[in-house]
Amino acid sequence: GSVGFAVMGLGGYGIGKVLPALAAADRCHVAAVVSGNPEKAKKVAAAYGLSEDAIYSYEDFDRIAEDDRVEAVYNVLPTGLHLEWTEKSFAAGKHVLCEKPMAMSVAECEQMIAASEATNRKLMIAYRCHFEPFNLRAMELMREGAVGKIKHIETAQNYRMGPTSVSENWRVVRALAGGGPLEDYGIYGLQSALYLSGEMPVAVKAVTEQPANDPRFEQIFSTVTTDLRFPSGATARLFTSYDTAPGNNMARVDGEAGTLLMQPATGYGGHKMSLTRDGVTEDLNPGDPNVQFALQCDHLADAIRDGTEIITPGEMGLRDMALIEAIYRSAAEGREITL
Ligand code: NAD
Repeated sequence: GSVGFAVMGLGGYGIGKVLPALAAADRCHVAAVVSGNPEKAKKVAAAYGLSEDAIYSYEDFDRIAEDDRVEAVYNVLPTGLHLEWTEKSFAAGKHVLCEKPMAMSVAECEQMIAASEATNRKLMIAYRCHFEPFNLRAMELMREGAVGKIKHIETAQNYRMGPTSVSENWRVVRALAGGGPLEDYGIYGLQSALYLSGEMPVAVKAVTEQPANDPRFEQIFSTVTTDLRFPSGATARLFTSYDTAPGNNMARVDGEAGTLLMQPATGYGGHKMSLTRDGVTEDLNPGDPNVQFALQCDHLADAIRDGTEIITPGEMGLRDMALIEAIYRSAAEGREITL
């Protein structure tokens, strides 16, 4: 049967994308919600046909262990809460689909993987681009050598964040968001560089910016620029920022025989992609990006029901966090870090 999910954290993404995705999915459904706001939880539960006993607060969450309607938890909390509530979900016997970035540090990621293994429950990171037709086609094209030998990858994930401060927005609070734009948005460019090149970097060199006297950047960086070197000799430059207008969401691969351009590359929809070879540019439209949200949920359901391998496991979240730590170390020490 269909796998029941509890959606934990009824914020912008939980309500806007996760709940509709579960409602649209084939092999899973919304079975419960976990929220600190009873009014909101009641409204959401009613909208998804849940009875009131399928509403959990953080205080009474532990009783979910006895709720057989719920087999998995979708953790859509701010990043600084991913570890604690993923561990509690495993302790309650549930599988976990955890939002990106996986956690605050390599050490936290390792703890989450250990908890998954100790309870024999599955852990998947919500890297939705691995289920999105444009990005899947781009990976396939790069594997097929569509641009020839890859020389350089450039990614940009940036926008201008409106006025805000640590008292009103978790995304600018270091304890909840880490360094800021890299973990939140630049992680898509980092991931793209890895899955488009098909390689892991051997060296990183990065620069961070943190403007003074700006309440948005009291605790977090405004901008992170990273250079990667790959074993093949290919290079990548990843730019991410909360302080640039009008913004960009781009991935470009330059090879010896062509260029792949994705712009927008990794959003919720509206993707555009083109391949230029021999002076001819071809626009590619491999499918509807909107399927990514439901397919991602079904992927964990498949793993639970059929034992299929998770393609975005905790180990991938850990891998990316290790790179993010190396990026910040490089910037802090002002030198290239060899991996
Ligand atoms: P949000 O601010 O809109 O929602 C966060 C929710 O967590 C709110 O309901 C808030 O009440 C609740 N919460 C509980 N404890 C909190 C605390 N101590 N401080 C602040 N809020 C608390 O955030 P969001 O945009 O929904 O992001 C949630 C998670 O989803 C993050 O990990 C984020 O990286 C991820 N996300 C992923 C995507 C994607 O495309 N995959 C998009 C947006 C967000």
